[in-house]
Amino acid sequence: MDVQRKLEILADAAKYDASCASSGTEKRDSRDGKGLGSTAPGMGICHSYAPDGRCISLLKVLLTNACNYDCLYCVNRASSNVPRARFTVDEVVKLTIDFYRRNYIEGLFLSSGIIRSADYTMEQVVTVARKLREEHRFRGYIHLKTIPEADDALIAEAGKYADRLSINIEMPQEESLKAYAPEKDVRAIRRTMGRLRLKLDDAKEAKKAEVKSRVKAPRFAPAGQSTQMIVGADASSDQTILTTSANLYGSYNLKRVYYSAFSPIPDASRALPLRAPPLMREHRLYQADWLMRFYGFDTSEIVDQATPMLALDVDPKLAWALRHRDRFPLDIAKASREELLRVPGFGTKAVDRIIATRRLTSIRSADLARLHIPRNKALPFIILSDHRPQPKLLESATLAERFKPQAMQLGFDF
Ligand code: SF4
Repeated sequence: MDVQRKLEILADAAKYDASCASSGTEKRDSRDGKGLGSTAPGMGICHSYAPDGRCISLLKVLLTNACNYDCLYCVNRASSNVPRARFTVDEVVKLTIDFYRRNYIEGLFLSSGIIRSADYTMEQVVTVARKLREEHRFRGYIHLKTIPEADDALIAEAGKYADRLSINIEMPQEESLKAYAPEKDVRAIRRTMGRLRLKLDDAKEAKKAEVKSRVKAPRFAPAGQSTQMIVGADASSDQTILTTSANLYGSYNLKRVYYSAFSPIPDASRALPLRAPPLMREHRLYQADWLMRFYGFDTSEIVDQATPMLALDVDPKLAWALRHRDRFPLDIAKASREELLRVPGFGTKAVDRIIATRRLTSIRSADLARLHIPRNKALPFIILSDHRPQPKLLESATLAERFKPQAMQLGFDF
């Protein structure tokens, strides 16, 4: 099989993995003439995000889609009837370098089905990264998918060459993982995430001490670790998904949890749904995730037993504000940063701009556009020097209707 055909198969097989966005890595470039590639902002890589957060400019491939495991939700599972291919290590290295030189990509995202054993597979993946870094002086971004059962020494080596490592938790609940991916071991996944965390913490400490000790700190995945959860393959609610995410962020200091809406696959098991969940569900989960990480929200404020699913028609912050109308309207001349972050339509940058502006002058409704705040969304919830919402408006049963998208007639779905 020629490399072009392998690429078709193995790039297609990798498309279901959403956990490849690049952020937070160290700056490297090759202006000293000693290497190839760059991770520096402005040189391409950090700007390559699709609106839903997916990375769009890495060479994203599997080493092979032939896998010993039989995870029900995966198109590459052992029992799947798809064409199989396998790259050699040198083929992936050459493709990465060729694509980089042609300016098609700014880095590599490499994953693999499990061949022979976890150690053998991990070794192959690590060898690609080592050759790129050591033989080709490649300084672009590298994200390696880590195989949880692989030997600790191989994972340590992966961190030496990769910018980011990730281990997919796959399912929001342990029982679902057992049912859908019986060969996977949730304890091994969590154990390896824990080990990665310790290595990342050690590397951070060593980096801090570098200046004092003048000893170069050993490198370990400077862009940290991430994971992916499949949404909609099992019956887990958004509350379960977000609670698992909060636990993962807290326990393993993950950079990101990626949510990947389940895509129906050919010849799928009957245990799987026939349809994909609405893509809006994935989007709302990302919004809720941001509320937890950057806006000071606790999971229980976003979803709870009474409302375990996120609303699809309004974003989670607006949904929260509509449930907590007694906290509004908020006088933005006096409100704390924490309070401002809870106003619908206020992003973190807008809040910083408000705080900087209100020190100098009072803010009027005409200023909202300059502050990049959507007027219609924010005005019912705030007091400005020239604006105070009608008390009746906040109490009105129809307030929520103002924010909902217009109803559309659905097409026939044969
Ligand atoms: S281990 Fe499971 S999820 Fe990963 S490639 Fe194999 S079958 Fe797919």
